[in-house]
Amino acid sequence: MLKTESMIHSTMIAGFRKWWNRKRELRRVHGIRIVHDPLSATLSDSRGLWPFKKIVVNDHFFRLAPPEQAAFILHEVGHCKLFHLEKRVLALPLLFVRPSYLNRLCIEQEHEADAYAAAQGFGPYLVSAFSRMKMDGENLLHPDFKSRIERLRLAQGA
Ligand SMILES: [Zn+2]
Repeated sequence: MLKTESMIHSTMIAGFRKWWNRKRELRRVHGIRIVHDPLSATLSDSRGLWPFKKIVVNDHFFRLAPPEQAAFILHEVGHCKLFHLEKRVLALPLLFVRPSYLNRLCIEQEHEADAYAAAQGFGPYLVSAFSRMKMDGENLLHPDFKSRIERLRLAQGA
């Protein structure tokens, strides 16, 4: 009886530890929380509206070289600082009138967030990471890596 109780107890503790480790805050960058969630579907993304913004990274993020990690974080910081999510929410009603506008807005915001990281000198690291990546299937909300690399190279040449 006691043994079962302590087993339940230790399972509960293990479960809590797992949950706690899964959503661990890594640090803050520019005041925004960075959280590691192994179950997140994307390498890095930004969530939440002001003032509850956070950047979530999954395990793949840690396979990037440190300067590439910084570049990806700065890309997400760009999304937050440029109020991209808020602008998407405001543009939502247009989904019924001009759905293509929302697609273009999202794609343009990806380039803007890339430019934000590039403005701080991290463009080459985005390019190096993007050149090893490929998209799985068509994505209406993200430009393909080839056009992101092209835009970054064009901006650096200017
Ligand atoms: Zn993005």
